[in-house]
Order: sequence, then structure tokens, then C-alpha cells
Amino acid sequence: MLTTALYLVTAQSLRLDDNPALAAAAREADHIVPAYIHDETRPRPTGGAAKWWLHHALADHARDLARAGAPLVLRHGALLTEVEKLVAETGARTLYLQHDPTPGMHAVEDALHHWAEENGIVCRRFGGHLLFDPVEIRTGAGKPYSVFTPFWRACIELGPRAPIPAPEKLSAPDNMPATLSLDALGLLPRGVDWTGGIAATWEPGETAAHKRLDHFIEAGLRGYGHDRDFPALEDGTTTLSPYLRFGNISPRRLFARLADIAAMEPALAQGAAHVQRELGWREFCWHLAVAKPDLATRPIREDFTAFPWHEPDPADLKRWQRGQTGFPIIDAGMRQLWQTGWMHNRVRMIVASFLAKDMLTDWRHGEAWFWDTLVDADAASNPANWQWVAGCGADAAPFFRIFNPTLQSAKFDGTGDYIRRFVPELANLPDAHIHEPHTAPAGVLHASGVALGRTYPLPMLDRSMARARALDAYQARGTTP
Ligand SMILES: Cc1cc2nc3c(=O)[nH]c(=O)nc-3n(C[C@H](O)[C@H](O)[C@H](O)COP(=O)(O)OP(=O)(O)OC[C@H]3O[C@@H](n4cnc5c(N)ncnc54)[C@H](O)[C@@H]3O)c2cc1C
Repeated sequence: MLTTALYLVTAQSLRLDDNPALAAAAREADHIVPAYIHDETRPRPTGGAAKWWLHHALADHARDLARAGAPLVLRHGALLTEVEKLVAETGARTLYLQHDPTPGMHAVEDALHHWAEENGIVCRRFGGHLLFDPVEIRTGAGKPYSVFTPFWRACIELGPRAPIPAPEKLSAPDNMPATLSLDALGLLPRGVDWTGGIAATWEPGETAAHKRLDHFIEAGLRGYGHDRDFPALEDGTTTLSPYLRFGNISPRRLFARLADIAAMEPALAQGAAHVQRELGWREFCWHLAVAKPDLATRPIREDFTAFPWHEPDPADLKRWQRGQTGFPIIDAGMRQLWQTGWMHNRVRMIVASFLAKDMLTDWRHGEAWFWDTLVDADAASNPANWQWVAGCGADAAPFFRIFNPTLQSAKFDGTGDYIRRFVPELANLPDAHIHEPHTAPAGVLHASGVALGRTYPLPMLDRSMARARALDAYQARGTTP
């Protein structure tokens, strides 16, 4: 008798290549029914910008699956209920899925597994979202790591498994279940469409991910070690984070491509190892999220539990969110985020430090804003990095290291190209004044068409006062770095 497998597509596995769950289903069953179930009760519902990505990546993946021979079925509802229905409709006896390491999802998958067992269905979970199973890397004492360098050393020693190719052909059963339309999942904004800038910046999906990687290897890899800190540079970094977030490309494929390039072209080896190490930070964030499921809400460092971060004045928080702080590098970063759904890493660190230290605002407000506005919003990397910048995370930047936005701006955006792109009202200021317009002579401001307080805001706070206040708050608690 011919067998049918139900393959559960998840919001982290939207690809054919190096997809162990899909490959096993294709190998072991005669027919395969790929299904994506949009479950809004899942832990931490997807943010707005990420939903835009999900919609388009699902469209792309549905095309690829149909071309391979098995069209995607879309459903909306509670995971277990919809799986039960699909099993009844298709007669599937096996269930394949990629394990989702998001805090809270283990229990959901366990419930699915339990239900399957009770109903005589084989449920098989595979890795694929990460280079390693987060619980497989352990210290000598058998504990999770809390410091990055030894963690990454242990990873490299273990070495990730090799990626596997996409199945050549899939075969759908005759009794394919009905599908909802993609629009029915409600992933795109209703009412005002704020996604124009995001759509103009990104092309979600598997083919686009590989195209972007090919281009980066040509144009950016050689200079990565230096260029990665300069936000104005087009190809300074890979910009693969949303593709990795949604599984449009697998980390193992990326890691292996970089290893191959390094072996073939020694001049690119340093850049390749550096990108691999950044992928290591992604692994580390997931390692932390699995060890500390409340990463998004609770400081890792216990001594920060009672830290006196402020509940922000809503007007101040809005100035930060909308890029109206009066500090050009911060405003450029926050506007890049709002317009394109992404922000350069160097600038993420500067704006996060400003919120958590200069504004002394609870970092969770910043984390939540990023969660809703980033196309790469990630349940591990976002809270782990916020905690890192705020000083309360694992292996964190010490609290007293407070980024000076003006110095950072002069160092990493010396000619002001990044600021000019996102804060066009400052475009005519000379380089010497673009990082700190409020110190520019009146004549320079006038000649550049800048009227402080009218065309561009005055600084929302006095930095030396804010810095002293942050350090006092830190000292007062008697914490040590
Ligand atoms: C406050 C703050 C919040 C962040 N939130 C997120 C988030 O929600 N999602 C997210 O993917 N990254 C997040 N990051 C990490 C980092 O900024 C982005 O991964 C990076 O900017 C993505 O650009 P890229 O793909 O060009 O990176 P590249 O420099 O090309 O790096 C390659 C890949 O390595 C990984 N990576 C690089 N740096 C980090 C890092 N510090 N932590 C974890 N992974 C890393 C990413 O997957 C990235 O795509 C955050 C950083 C900060 C400071």
C-alpha cells in the first residue's frame, strides 16, 4: 500500500535545500502533503514586519514545492487541531517536522508527539534551524555555556554536520486536502499599508537568499572584517539575517559555502571565518534562549533583577522609536528600521545603548519595538542582544561602557553618508557638523537649511547628565561588573 506523510512546514523551515525533515519525508514516504498551519496561539506571536516576510516567503516556498510536485496546504488554527484534521483527510501515518527551539515550543511539539503516539502515528522531529542542537554543546561540567568564546570553540571542535541537497522530486497524493488562500492567513497589514519601504528593500525566499549570498561572496566577503562596522556600505555585511530567521537558507549551507570558499581562495579565508563566527553568535543566542526560556523578560544576571530602569515617558519613547532624538546616528538607525525593517548591527548597538543607558529606559521596551519592526526579529537573537547591550546578559558589555553616539557616528559614518540617507533634512550639513548639529555655528546651520527645533530636533537629553545618571544608578545598586 502506498504511504502518505504529512510534512509540517514551519516559519523557520521555508526552504527545500538542506531540510532534513523534508528530505526524510521525501525519502521514506510514497506521497507527501506539505502543510503550513498558522497558529496565533503559539508562544510569542510574530511581529508586524516579520509577518510581511512570512507572507512572501510562504508564497515563494509554495511555488517551489508545487514545482517539485507537492503543493503547499495552508491552514489557520491551533496546531494540534489542524494536524488532527489533516491526518483524517489524508490518511497520513507519519508526521515530519523541523524542531522549533523557540521557548515554549518544546511543550507544543511534545503534545503533538504524544497525540501522534496515542493515535498510532509516527512523529519525527529533525534539526535544521541551527548548526547544532542547542543542548548538545555543554561545558566540561555538563552545563550550558555563558561565555561566547569557549562556546564557539566547543562548536568548532564538534564541527557542524554537512548540509544535504534538496529532494529532486516530491509526489503528492490524489486526495490532496483543500487549502486556504495565502491572504486568508491575514499576515499583511489591514488598513494602512506601511510595508512600502520594506517591499522596496527586500526579496524574501530561498532563491533570493542564495542570490544574495552569491553577490556578497563576490562583493563583500573580502572586506568583511573591516567593512562590517560601517553602516553606509552596501555590501559591508551579508544582510542574510531575515533569510536565516525564516529558514530561507540554512545555517549549515551558509557555513559550508564559506568553508568551501575559504579552501578554494585563501584570500577570502579570513572574511569567511569571520562570518562563520557571527553565525556562532546566532547559535550562542539560541543556546541561551533554550537554557533561559524567559530571556525576553528576565535579566540573565540576577544582580540586575531590581535595576532601576525607568518606565519611559511615552513621548520620549516615541521620539526614540521614530528617530526624533536629535542625535543623528540614532535617528538614522531608527528610521532605517522603520522604513526598511532592518538596521545595521553597529547602529543597533548604539540605539540600544542609548535607550537602556542614556534614557535609562527598561530594555524590554526596546526589545518589544524591535520585535514588531524587524524583518529578522528573532526569539533568541533579539532578547539576547538587548540584554548584552543593557549589561544584564550573558558575556555582556559592561554596564559602564556607554556608547557615545557622536563619537561612534564620527568613527563609523565619518562622511555622514548613512545619516544623509535616512535623515535627509541634515543632508547639506558639512561632514564636520553632521554628527552633532546642535554644536554647529548658526551660520552653518542657516546655510545648510537646518533650523534646530523646527526642521530637526534639538537633543532630547543632555548626554553628560544622562551618562552620570546611568552610572549612579549602576553604582547605587552595589553591582560589580
Ligand atoms: C539590540 C540588538 C538586537 C538584535 N536583534 C536581532 C534579531 O532580532 N534578529 C537577528 O537575526 N539579529 C539580531 N541582532 C544581531 C545583529 O544585529 C544582526 O544579526 C545583524 O545585524 C544582521 O545583519 P547581517 O545578516 O548583515 O549580519 P552579518 O554581519 O552578515 O552576520 C551574518 C549572520 O550572523 C548572525 N549574527 C551576526 N551578528 C549577530 C549577533 N550579534 N547576534 C546574533 N546573531 C548574529 C546573523 O544571523 C547574521 O545574519 C541584534 C543586535 C542588537 C545589538
